[in-house]
Amino acid sequence: MGSDGQKVVLVTGCSSGIGLRVAVLLAKDDRRRYHVIATMRDTKKKDKLLEAAGDTYGKTLTLQMLDVCSEESIKQCISSIKDRHVDILINNAGIGLLGPVESISIEEMKKVFETNFFGMVRMIKEVMPDMKRRRSGHIIVMSSVMGLQGVVFNDVYTASKFAMEGFCESLAVQLLKFNINVSMIEPGPVHTEFEVKMMQDVAKMEYPGADPDTVRYFKDVYLPSSLDIFEAMGQSAEDIARCIQKVIE
Ligand code: NDP
Repeated sequence: MGSDGQKVVLVTGCSSGIGLRVAVLLAKDDRRRYHVIATMRDTKKKDKLLEAAGDTYGKTLTLQMLDVCSEESIKQCISSIKDRHVDILINNAGIGLLGPVESISIEEMKKVFETNFFGMVRMIKEVMPDMKRRRSGHIIVMSSVMGLQGVVFNDVYTASKFAMEGFCESLAVQLLKFNINVSMIEPGPVHTEFEVKMMQDVAKMEYPGADPDTVRYFKDVYLPSSLDIFEAMGQSAEDIARCIQKVIE
């Protein structure tokens, strides 16, 4: 808790999409009065966040630089927080990777795990000791429906989300006695830049070395039906932000 009774919420990946929306929604929550530390790896991208935050910026919302791939950057950010107290961690930062395994290098695959899985682990390791000492806290992890089910050409992204699920399920049991909750959010398709970028990547891809039947299925069946599902049932980043708001209430 902050000195004035506000709960301190740290959100990763607030330059766009879900992270930006949840940071702003919580900063504007008059009922709960959170102090939101909105973080991003490149603070030159702050304009959209600050515009959405309006006059909460500098009051209930502050901005910090944080790259989940850098232990040093995480440590710097946490040590700048009063008493290093984070009541609620919203581990949202993540990247996608689409395509057949044949055309993706191990380096590209490692980058996804570095960000999605180890990024989450680094964040949890940094905030958990203080939460344990205070016997209170909530860790929210942004997984995906792809953390529960594999999807063609999403092998590596799916694997990173499965890894997050496994880690958190094990951790949640151990943290119960410290009164620390661990919650996984598993959205289906959400209309954000993440998804737009994925679709752009798909359009550019040539799928060298991939099985032609799988490529045909992917292009002719999977992608069009995904787009249909997206159109009909896709949620907004705001919807997911509201869901997180309910989870932490
Ligand atoms: P966006 O691309 O809009 O947001 C991703 C955020 O993560 C950006 O702020 C990005 O920053 C940040 N990020 C990436 N790498 C790092 C890093 N090393 N350190 C800190 N921040 C980083 O996508 P979404 O809002 O859609 O995605 C947010 C989360 O939701 C992800 O974990 C994603 O897997 C998950 N998700 C998304 C779904 C969707 O359909 N959109 C569905 C299910 C889950 P930068 O601008 O610098 O790249």
